Amino acid sequence: MTTRPILIHPDPRLKKVCDPVGEITTEVRRLAEDMLETMYEAPGIGLAAPQVGVTKRLIVMDCIKEGEPEPMALVNPEIIWSSEDLTVYEEGCLSIPDQYAEVKRPAEVQVRWTDLEGAVQERHFTGLWATCVQHEIDHLDGRLFIDYLGPLKRQMITRKMEKLKRERARE
Ligand code: ZN
Repeated sequence: MTTRPILIHPDPRLKKVCDPVGEITTEVRRLAEDMLETMYEAPGIGLAAPQVGVTKRLIVMDCIKEGEPEPMALVNPEIIWSSEDLTVYEEGCLSIPDQYAEVKRPAEVQVRWTDLEGAVQERHFTGLWATCVQHEIDHLDGRLFIDYLGPLKRQMITRKMEKLKRERARE
């Protein structure tokens, strides 16, 4: 397993609608392993393939903060039901470091995906898992959490990220 560099917003690859994953090949499994490694090291609770520059529909997550880790890899995830109940979380993103904002989303979702063995799975997510899975699936459609904010707040964050990228490029 190796960690991969995480793209920082703004980047055209973070705005793309990603392609479905076809067959679960060794390459797909390796990508999922690398993404988990990258996510744990960051550290974060979720990561989507476009964040490491691969515009395919694959996300990884682990929202367990204490106790046994529960790494999950979801290929071609789809929200098949969302609750009318909404919840607000202060979200962040590994592609938008050190910026946080409250985002309102459905409190519970039912998600269907293919696992790394090629089997179809379904699960009802609540709490932080529900927020996280929606945030990650948004990435697959080129949507970032700052897209839910007002234009001023979004521009302010984008400018900070442009500055951060210039600084990193100079290092
Ligand atoms: Zn994110």
